[in-house]
Amino acid sequence: MYCKNCGKEVTPGAAVCLSCGVKVGDGTNYCQNCGSQIAPNAAVCVNCGCAVNNVPAGAERKSKLTAGLLGIFLGGLGVHNFYLGYTGKAIAQIVLSLCFGVGAIWGLIEGIMILCGKIDKDANGVPLAQ
Ligand SMILES: [Zn+2]
Ligand SMILES: [Zn+2]
Repeated sequence: MYCKNCGKEVTPGAAVCLSCGVKVGDGTNYCQNCGSQIAPNAAVCVNCGCAVNNVPAGAERKSKLTAGLLGIFLGGLGVHNFYLGYTGKAIAQIVLSLCFGVGAIWGLIEGIMILCGKIDKDANGVPLAQ
């Protein structure tokens, strides 16, 4: 396991990188799996093929609990999808609610999926905060 910020090897179980002091798992510069440098917006490491879970620097992580509860209570209005940035899906939910009255069920299911971790990213691919 390697530091994603500086690329140095980190001790398994360590909470912070001893080389740069950054929390293990933070940073977007190096592959956590093999320690090779990765392109800023790469989805996979070109060296080892391992998926790179890039959280853009300064990205706002949306709250999983907020998104889940919004889906359960206001899902028919697509509020949780507006919150997460899935605007197209949110509008579809409003239309379904207004025309067929079924958007709320869809929203409720998505709210539960968010709370269970089945939906764990926002529209920008940023993982939701716990
Ligand atoms: Zn480091
Ligand atoms: Zn790699």
